[in-house]
Amino acid sequence: MHAGQPVDPATGAVVPPIVLASTYERDADGTYPRGFSYSRTDNPNRRALEECVAALEGAKHALAFSSGLGTANAVIQSLAVGDHVVATKDIYHGTRKSLERAHARGLLQVTFVDATDLKVIQAAVQPNTKLIWLETPSNPLLRITDLEATANFAKKQNILTVCDGTLATPILQNPLQLGIDMVFHSTTKYIAGHSDVVGGILLTNQTNSIFEEAALSQKAGGGGGIPSPFDCWLTLRGVATLPLRIRAQSSSAMQIAQFLAEQPQVETVYYPGLPQHPGHALAGRQMKMFGAIISFLLRGSKEDALALTGRLNIFTRATSLGGTHSLVEHRASIEGPKSTTPDNLLRLSIGLENSSDLIADLKGALQGK
Ligand code: PLP
Repeated sequence: MHAGQPVDPATGAVVPPIVLASTYERDADGTYPRGFSYSRTDNPNRRALEECVAALEGAKHALAFSSGLGTANAVIQSLAVGDHVVATKDIYHGTRKSLERAHARGLLQVTFVDATDLKVIQAAVQPNTKLIWLETPSNPLLRITDLEATANFAKKQNILTVCDGTLATPILQNPLQLGIDMVFHSTTKYIAGHSDVVGGILLTNQTNSIFEEAALSQKAGGGGGIPSPFDCWLTLRGVATLPLRIRAQSSSAMQIAQFLAEQPQVETVYYPGLPQHPGHALAGRQMKMFGAIISFLLRGSKEDALALTGRLNIFTRATSLGGTHSLVEHRASIEGPKSTTPDNLLRLSIGLENSSDLIADLKGALQGK
């Protein structure tokens, strides 16, 4: 509630003002005693957001970017030509495409692996492996990776680790505390939480070669893809209710996953909170709750899955996740022709509606009503 956002000393405003200025005055001696010179380099709203999310994540350093994908790309562009990356294969498709493009253009070598098995990660490591890229829970299959075991292995090999923690949020999972070097979030999702702003943030406790290079992306010498002061302000406003939202959404998601698992029209439910999920025990150890994203396979075809979304009334048919409104998404069609996501998979982002209303909506749609 308070980190990074004290009562405004100039006006007494209880919430931070939005400072739109792109440039700041120097003193007569040419210095910047108030700490800001130019808004790309740093500005009060971005600093407030970075300090606040760093406090939530237990991080010392944070870098906010204009999107989650921009954050991922700040990491990718911080690697040196010829570096090798071992990445989890069930990964947000935009990140996958960025890594694949860097590989295809000869900038990086990337090996995608089943990161749920540490032995598979270990076997993929090469002498030039610089980074292990994890995403847990993963999008869209909700696979769970053992963060502590991977971090311990990587440290011994002198390999850096980064985890996309978007689906868990800093409230449910803290990768840095488990030894992971860097964590990032698409703040577009739960952190901002209202489906009205796009952003991302990269965090660490100890700067390293990749983080230092990524920091240049906000300054000179990098991509310059910074969020606007208004976007930072809006995202920070979302943070105040993040713990309440994610707990309520996770608890509804648990009920909905249990409901879906009992329906004859449903082939498989992917939700780490269900005991039959292969990552259930591990998720129970490294997460405080199981999150609010559920994927499931409908018995039937792609057309059946799309038809089901057409019968839902409360779930909105839309991509993205993490907002207050529940969404349903046919992943394969948004991921494009190269998608490996099953055609009959639907992903649910559980919002803040009453869970019994959401269950009734799904029940009616499954029964063809
Ligand atoms: N990481 C995950 C897990 C995501 O789901 C997304 C977006 O869907 C991103 C990263 C990319 O974030 P953004 O859409 O803010 O660029």
